[in-house]
Amino acid sequence: MNGNSASVDASTPASAVSERLRITEIFHSIQGEADAIGWRTVFVRLTGCPLRCVWCDTEYSFYGGNWHAIDDILAEVASHGVRYVCVTGGEPLAQKRCLILLQKLCDAGYEVSLETSGALDVSAVDPRVRKVMDLKAPDSGESKRNLWSNLDHLLPHDQIKIVIASRADYEWSRAMLDEHALAERCMVLFSPVHGAVQPRELAEWIIADKLPVRFQMQLHKLLWNDAAGH
Ligand code: SF4
Repeated sequence: MNGNSASVDASTPASAVSERLRITEIFHSIQGEADAIGWRTVFVRLTGCPLRCVWCDTEYSFYGGNWHAIDDILAEVASHGVRYVCVTGGEPLAQKRCLILLQKLCDAGYEVSLETSGALDVSAVDPRVRKVMDLKAPDSGESKRNLWSNLDHLLPHDQIKIVIASRADYEWSRAMLDEHALAERCMVLFSPVHGAVQPRELAEWIIADKLPVRFQMQLHKLLWNDAAGH
């Protein structure tokens, strides 16, 4: 389909319109982070994000993209022969029909994860989906967007991810861990911003403070130096 336009053709039946999503890319790679790290995974990257984190590494997903019918997305995912599917962005929940995609992927038997900013309501996400939800630390410039009520919708198989750009971010993250009992809700991931904080330094802070969090570095950055399509 030629989907470079954001508008939908007036002749398109309403039912088909309701089953479409705007997609930046669908690709087959290795999961580079969170619980499913290392597994062959198909990534479905939805277009658009209402946030502007200063260290964002997927700005190319803010605009453009193509309209895809959800059933066509499922067919493309199936063509790669994977067990793991990651729905990401941008901010995938900015398109409400993302919830339909997540449900259909679960119904089809995949292990489904959702990467989300933590700024949009996650309460309606299919409970079979593993949510990897960010909390935005101050240096992201988007800390005010954290929707704290989302914490009450996390399940034990979900993950909270905090991307840390400085010692000040680390100290904020440590305070939030305590204040919101984050580690009692689900796994908490601390990840250094590439090129901003030394990964070893962050690892040593975590060890020194005996924090109940999982340090992670993004495997895809080590393997492919963050090239698009990986
Ligand atoms: S929420 Fe994610 S996609 Fe959106 S600006 Fe922040 S890092 Fe980029």
